[in-house]
Amino acid sequence: MHIPFDNSYAALPDAFYTKLAPTSVKAPKLLAFNEELAKSLGIEDTDEGTMTEIFSGNSLPQSADPLAQLYAGHQFGNYNPQLGDGRAILLGEVIDTNGIRRDIQLKGAGRTPYSRGGDGRAWLGPVLREYVVSEAMHALGIPTTRALAAVSTGEDILREQGMLPGAVLTRTASSHLRVGTFQVFAHRGQIEDLQTLTDYAIKRHYPQASGPMDLLRAVCAAQADLIARWMSVGFIHGVMNTDNCAIGGETIDYGPCAFMDDFHMGRVFSSIDQQGRYAYGNQPNMAMFNMAQLATALLPLFEDKDAALEEATAIIYAMPDQIEAAWLKRFAAKLGIAEPTPEDADLIQSLLDLMQTQGADFTNTFRALNTGKARDQFTDREAFDAWEKRHSARIMGLEGASELMDATNPALIPRNHRIEQMIQAATAGDMAPFEQMMQAYATPFADTSSDLTRPPTRDEIVPATFCGT
Ligand code: AMP
Ligand code: MG
Repeated sequence: MHIPFDNSYAALPDAFYTKLAPTSVKAPKLLAFNEELAKSLGIEDTDEGTMTEIFSGNSLPQSADPLAQLYAGHQFGNYNPQLGDGRAILLGEVIDTNGIRRDIQLKGAGRTPYSRGGDGRAWLGPVLREYVVSEAMHALGIPTTRALAAVSTGEDILREQGMLPGAVLTRTASSHLRVGTFQVFAHRGQIEDLQTLTDYAIKRHYPQASGPMDLLRAVCAAQADLIARWMSVGFIHGVMNTDNCAIGGETIDYGPCAFMDDFHMGRVFSSIDQQGRYAYGNQPNMAMFNMAQLATALLPLFEDKDAALEEATAIIYAMPDQIEAAWLKRFAAKLGIAEPTPEDADLIQSLLDLMQTQGADFTNTFRALNTGKARDQFTDREAFDAWEKRHSARIMGLEGASELMDATNPALIPRNHRIEQMIQAATAGDMAPFEQMMQAYATPFADTSSDLTRPPTRDEIVPATFCGT
């Protein structure tokens, strides 16, 4: 197998990482491989034997320069001065067919100096969850890391639930730079490294940015857009810590994430998120918190600290309006309105309020708006009828409204109960549900009669996701 590496992170100062190879595993087996993604990365000559060796970490591809990245981060609001890749190894980077530099990283590839007591491994469940959900997000048009391969290791690992089959995920990302990468150098007073990192991030992600303030502005814009996109498909990330907030604006780290079925602004899935810090409707606030941390980390780079603080504060304070505008754009499109006016916010909010009080399914309600069947999602149908009258009046004569609705309201999202069922099957050696989901979620906006559109029955509901990844 040939991977056309072109590594840049490995050329940064030693302070940025620890170079080390993955730890071998006993009996690797290739479970999934993303051929389309591999092609776009210029990966050639793929045979199963070599792929199994490389994607398990048992052998290193030529020109790989493996390393674990250093970073820190705020976890649930508390600063942790040292995190870093505790179980991930960056093999290197390639330039894809669109000219974009992509990291290729193994997750669950063994211990590193940043493992902090962890085993450096991942179990099959979260590996397949990330595989399915990140690829579904990509198909939904939402910026995300992607899944290139999944391998089972043939080794059992210990988690809260007991002994579980180990696995390694190979993922790609436009980079693994996080808010926490900036924080670690800022907090340690390594200003030269902070400057090097800033220059690197600008060059890699926002080449038009003129300096750190412009970088902050660009990352805030990317995060505002990302959060609005998440909300428009009912996605709850679940662990928006600053170490899981990518500078490039991609969704990263699919640990306790979930898509909601029946709509509620306060929905939380993560079992460790007792306070609802990362609840569906709190995601804009948390993005703003993360951007405030990035701003704080960048301040040491400025000579005139007072002026910089003032400017950065203005950028952060502009975020609510920025997210609101992005939210309005995304949700208005779901109603068939390409160019929303401020009054449309009330039309959207009224529908969401109805959905919340009546427990309507988020995905199926929006999808059905275009077929006249949305009222079936409500128990108080007259209340919905009244709303629909307003909606019909608003989109009357709007060209392309129907097409816009079909292109922005997916028929399929990876429902949590299906993911759990898929993981159970895979743990028992049956990959058929995984294959079926991968195929279905590749075209989420197509009309379908798939059973995967069905919300969970009372017995099927999976109310919590676990961080024991
Ligand atoms: P996450 O919640 O996956 O974003 O991880 C938070 C931090 O814990 C990161 O530094 C991870 O690398 C580390 N970590 C998570 N699981 C493990 C593990 N099994 N072994 C070592 N480090 C881990
Ligand atoms: Mg993480």
